[in-house]
Amino acid sequence: MVSLAEAVVKGLAPDKGLYMPEQIKELPTAFFNNIGNLTLQEISYAVANTLFGEDVPSSDLKDIVYDALNFDIPLVKVADNKYSLELFHGPTLAFKDVGARFMARLLGYFNALSDDKRPVNVLVATSGDTGSAVANGFLGVEGVRVFVLYPSGKVSKIQESQFTTLGKNIFAIEVNGTFDDCQALVKTAFLDDELNNKHKLTSANSINIARFMPQMFYYFYAYAQLAKQGADLSNVVVSVPSGNFGNITSGLIGKQMGLPIKRFIAANNRNDVFFNYCRTGVYEPKPSVQTIANAMDVGNPSNFARVLDLYGHSHAAICNDITCYSYTDEQIAETLAATYAETHYLLDPHGACGYRSLCEGLRPGEVGVFLETAHPAKFKETVEGIIDSEVSIPQRLQEFMKGEKDTIKLSKDFRDFKKLLLSF
Ligand SMILES: *Cc1c(COP(=O)(O)O)cnc(C)c1O
Repeated sequence: MVSLAEAVVKGLAPDKGLYMPEQIKELPTAFFNNIGNLTLQEISYAVANTLFGEDVPSSDLKDIVYDALNFDIPLVKVADNKYSLELFHGPTLAFKDVGARFMARLLGYFNALSDDKRPVNVLVATSGDTGSAVANGFLGVEGVRVFVLYPSGKVSKIQESQFTTLGKNIFAIEVNGTFDDCQALVKTAFLDDELNNKHKLTSANSINIARFMPQMFYYFYAYAQLAKQGADLSNVVVSVPSGNFGNITSGLIGKQMGLPIKRFIAANNRNDVFFNYCRTGVYEPKPSVQTIANAMDVGNPSNFARVLDLYGHSHAAICNDITCYSYTDEQIAETLAATYAETHYLLDPHGACGYRSLCEGLRPGEVGVFLETAHPAKFKETVEGIIDSEVSIPQRLQEFMKGEKDTIKLSKDFRDFKKLLLSF
């Protein structure tokens, strides 16, 4: 067992394993009875206090939560019994802002308290959205450097501009390889003695507990908004567009803390490792394939180990709580176009997987929420190609695109990455 500070600063356990909370505490029934009257910040603070209250004094935790979650996450009705939880109202217009902003503040807090004043080096592999959320969440944070590794040519221009143009304490590393190669480089760095002796290293991928746990806040807030809107709360189903499975895992923990969600849906693109696991009980990682929902192009989801842990490695128990769907690019495009034509709601390719899985998987009497994980303008070319009309770019995104790209080019050979880090 380690302290929260150590789990956050280290990211990965010494044996390469992922940290999990030692015990999962339940929130009182009274909290859920009253939840419809609470704001996002109030709910998040109550949940954070239950999770982290023994490690961070309440008033400090409150500052961290209120500052990290200073934007709304509205629940929008798309069709009968189907709601979109719009997670794209943060600074980089994707759900990862929540975890990244919370983690940046918590890490800054712990580092300021530490005797070791060397800077913390955050290593993050990204297939697009993680890099922008983490880079922006940490931009200008005292005593922290961020290295963003991304697969060259495999992220959209808009995504790329969000982490390659920032400067200051943010370094963008353009890797000649895939996302899985980037992830492997980061994981290897954490196990390298020489690097760890010289630098404080940590991860801001969803393997870091401070990044993935705060994501559960908005599951509670979705439920609160259903309550506020007078929806039937007895059979709530939440569909989560999933890649590394950090987002859905935080929701699963929320359920174990008492959040009355009946079951979850994991919506996948063609990267169907989890889908196959649900069907066969066999977990077989494979290389990722590129899709139009590229933030979900993951061939070996790092949080699968956490899902197994939560359910005592029981395939039956996992299938009882999670149903999985997998969609091709054609199906994603078809859903996006049809939904726009029928309801005027514009999905992004990731949210389209989530929405389609509700349309196919919702049973009579159930109320479905899907997590709309990114703003459609982040995938402008793809979405415009599908709906055949123009998607306007929010002001916040336009600002990024005015910046100048500045990257460090690297092979996927670990020795090159190590040499670079040692040069700092
Ligand atoms: C990261 C991301 C996902 C996948 O989330 P995981 O926590 O890795 O499962 C889905 N959609 C978007 C837009 C993302 O950025």
